[in-house]
Amino acid sequence: MFDSLSDKLDKAFHVLKGHGQITEVNVAETLKEVRRALVDADVNFKIAKNFTNTVKEKALGQDVLNTLKPNQMMVKIVKDELTELMGGDAEGVDLSGQPSVILMSGLQGSGKTTFSGKLANFLKNKKTKKPLLVACDVYRPAAIDQLHVVGEQINVDVFSNKEEKNPVKIAEAAIAHAKENGHNVVILDTAGRLAIDEQMMNEISEIHQTIKPQETLFVVDAMTGQDAVNTAKAFNDVLDFNGVILTKLDGDTRGGAAISIKSVVDKPIKFIGTGEKMDAIDVFHPSRMADRILGMGDVVSLVERAQEQYDEEEARKIQKKIAKNKFGFDDFLKQIQQVKKMGSMKDLMGMIPGAGKMMKNMDIDDDAFKHIEAIIHSMTPDERSNPNVINASRKRRIGKGSGTSVQEVNQLLKQFTQMSKMMKMMQGGGGKKMMQMMKN
Ligand code: GDP
Repeated sequence: MFDSLSDKLDKAFHVLKGHGQITEVNVAETLKEVRRALVDADVNFKIAKNFTNTVKEKALGQDVLNTLKPNQMMVKIVKDELTELMGGDAEGVDLSGQPSVILMSGLQGSGKTTFSGKLANFLKNKKTKKPLLVACDVYRPAAIDQLHVVGEQINVDVFSNKEEKNPVKIAEAAIAHAKENGHNVVILDTAGRLAIDEQMMNEISEIHQTIKPQETLFVVDAMTGQDAVNTAKAFNDVLDFNGVILTKLDGDTRGGAAISIKSVVDKPIKFIGTGEKMDAIDVFHPSRMADRILGMGDVVSLVERAQEQYDEEEARKIQKKIAKNKFGFDDFLKQIQQVKKMGSMKDLMGMIPGAGKMMKNMDIDDDAFKHIEAIIHSMTPDERSNPNVINASRKRRIGKGSGTSVQEVNQLLKQFTQMSKMMKMMQGGGGKKMMQMMKN
């Protein structure tokens, strides 16, 4: 995500490296590069210019703190301003209604249906919410089917009526159905068009006026850059919506839409979509996004995802097993499945500071886990709990059974032994010992 922008900003800050202080001259030079980086990222020129002017004022007006070098100081100022530009604080969605109705709108292909599913899944995981997905697209039967597929995937009820051609009526019936069946959130997935036109606006306005949803969200595809910003603006001119959903950020290397939408449309980005899977959704936090843009990673979001998947009871069981030297391949398999639930590897790596840059040219393959899983599945229960019994002939059998090579089996066994040792040390409060081991 945003690799090229991060790189260019990094180079811009290099201008200040070695300088003892921030001066009018070196600031101008740095900010010229920053502005160029932003414009290359598809940020509107005027916004980029205003941005660098504000940064310049702040940089020159500030006493350089003794503890910070000029380039560090500049990174901090740029980070704060980027955060401000993207909206300051994170904005949630209003879920106070009984039920709360969330109206989704957006162009065809923007990722509206996928996002409706992701949002339903996200809310369902919060335990207190029981969402209902509603298919309000009366033009494309395939769109209705698609929502049903999504609903099945995440185990959320879907309301539809292929006979009814009036989306307002469908929405009304869905809300009545929700009340009867204890759903406290209703997500209306509406029809999209290839471009914003009168018919689309009339239809969505009518639903909006009649249903009076708590939230109306406009979905845009981040990969379309300034087009995304312009569409959101055109939509906002007709319908006063609550927030923007930025999808496909995983494929957006430039970042222009994320940076400019708030200042052009004056509506906050509420969520982002970072992949095709149902768990690829994050609340949009301007400050964390600024960190990502500056290549500082987003450890907070990573920890949050991990916490969502964390199963306390399971963790306690594993700890006991490690203490008793009983951690086996079955437990390992469970751990892998937990990690996989957090999202795609590439996505996770992007959240680790510095990793984005390092990983840029690597083809991170989610299938890597598949080999490991296949190898473990080819082991007998006894081999899984007692890896020591795996001799050469067993290795050949496992390799054959899993469609991998003996080398791969060996590699996994070696990694597993190392990992078990490390876990044992961590458990025994042997942090120091482990550091020692890593140094060697
Ligand atoms: P709709 O026409 O607006 O309802 O769009 P869909 O939900 O059908 O999405 C269009 C395409 O974009 C599908 O192939 C989705 O899998 C894909 N898509 C949606 N959201 C994301 C995302 O966050 N990242 C990526 N990479 N693809 C996405």
